[in-house]
Order: sequence, then structure tokens, then C-alpha cells
Amino acid sequence: MRTEPRCSECDSEDPKIISLRNPARERYCGRFCLNKGHESFIRWIRRANAEVAS
Ligand SMILES: [Zn+2]
Repeated sequence: MRTEPRCSECDSEDPKIISLRNPARERYCGRFCLNKGHESFIRWIRRANAEVAS
């Protein structure tokens, strides 16, 4: 049983784009999912920064 890499967003097979942030775990099937993954990452960063600043 092989473990194929899957898109981090939509879980589709054979993702073509590998995230530069986290190449081991984040892969995306296309630019749409790459952008979605990027947005959630940016939201997370902003929240983390806000917590540090407060
Ligand atoms: Zn996808």
C-alpha cells in the first residue's frame, strides 16, 4: 500500500505544486488550492502576531 502525496486543501491525488514553506507536508493540486492554503497561513500568522503584540 503506497502513500501517495495528496493536495493539502482538497485532498485530490497527484498534487503538482509543493509549498516552499513546508515542502514535506504541504502540496497543492493547483494554484487555487495553493492560494487557499496561503490564505489560511497568512491568517494564522496575523493572529500569532496580534497575540505577541498584545
Ligand atoms: Zn487541491
